[in-house]
Amino acid sequence: MFTWYIRAVSKPSLQRRVVRAADDVLSEQSYVAFTDVLARLGWVHPVNIERWRTGRLSELEQVVPVPAERVVQACEHLTAWARERGLRAEDVEYVAGTRDRRPLQFLSGTTSDEERALRTHWFAPDAAPAQREKVVEKQSKAPDLVAIMPTREWECADCGDTGGFLVMEDDEPLCLDCADMGHLVFLPAGDAALTRRAKKASGLSAVVIRWARARKRYERQGILVEEGALERAEEQCLADADARERRRERDRERRAQEDVEFQGELSAAVRRLFPGCPQGRAASIAWHAGTRGSGRVGRSAAGRALDERAVTLAVVASVRHTDTEYDALLMAGVPRDEARDRVAADINGVLRSWQA
Ligand SMILES: [Zn+2]
Repeated sequence: MFTWYIRAVSKPSLQRRVVRAADDVLSEQSYVAFTDVLARLGWVHPVNIERWRTGRLSELEQVVPVPAERVVQACEHLTAWARERGLRAEDVEYVAGTRDRRPLQFLSGTTSDEERALRTHWFAPDAAPAQREKVVEKQSKAPDLVAIMPTREWECADCGDTGGFLVMEDDEPLCLDCADMGHLVFLPAGDAALTRRAKKASGLSAVVIRWARARKRYERQGILVEEGALERAEEQCLADADARERRRERDRERRAQEDVEFQGELSAAVRRLFPGCPQGRAASIAWHAGTRGSGRVGRSAAGRALDERAVTLAVVASVRHTDTEYDALLMAGVPRDEARDRVAADINGVLRSWQA
């Protein structure tokens, strides 16, 4: 009986393995699908589930290394586990990501009831109805059709022709014409809004991928869409661009108006603090300090509040550049600090004369 004991420890029963897998899945998401359990059991790689969903396998069974009876048993264990825990069953339709959008089969030779059990998604009792609906809708949706940009020479399995795109059906390459997709045009990736709109407007579309050898994975290149859909999407995007331009124009006008008002107030504030400052000069100081985007003192928060110090700083900056040799000193290579020191007395002289 010792050998029996070893076997039991090293190879837990299928039921226990299914229960553990299902518990694990449910701890990570709000539902458990049989495909999740299959992947967790190590019976099928997620990549192969994806191949099946996109219609490249006629049955999932083709890539599952255990007999169909074992798969059915595992599913029965899952159903029992779910019933025991009071999970809620939702029926999900699996549709192939192929032109015909055919229903997917787990196993060959199963009845529709058996297939339904294999497709059932089990939801935690506290999963909200809206959440359940969302998952069911997403799972029942056919995956995007996929077209491949070949990196090697290839031949269509139907007509023997070749071309810039191929579509895999039941693991055979077809040209776009033989896949009934010859009327689609290629829109390269890059403009997200245009892509989204074109895809939405297109009755038939496909994601285009290409094998990137260096990265060892398929990468998205763009989409194939109906020409009319692409044209409509382009028009919408242009209309949007026009609308954006009009809004920018309105914003510019509003800001210019705000600037004019602010500069008027700043100019008046300069004249209040420095009555001797000529009107034109005050206006020029205000214009200089108050132009949007200039980053000058007049546009700081304090400047906008027309705080006395900020107004004085704007006037000092103007006097330094206009009424002293400061700029000439800088041009002559005098360091900034030293140049400021050398013109300080001149600036104070001008300010005093304006205060009088
Ligand atoms: Zn062909």
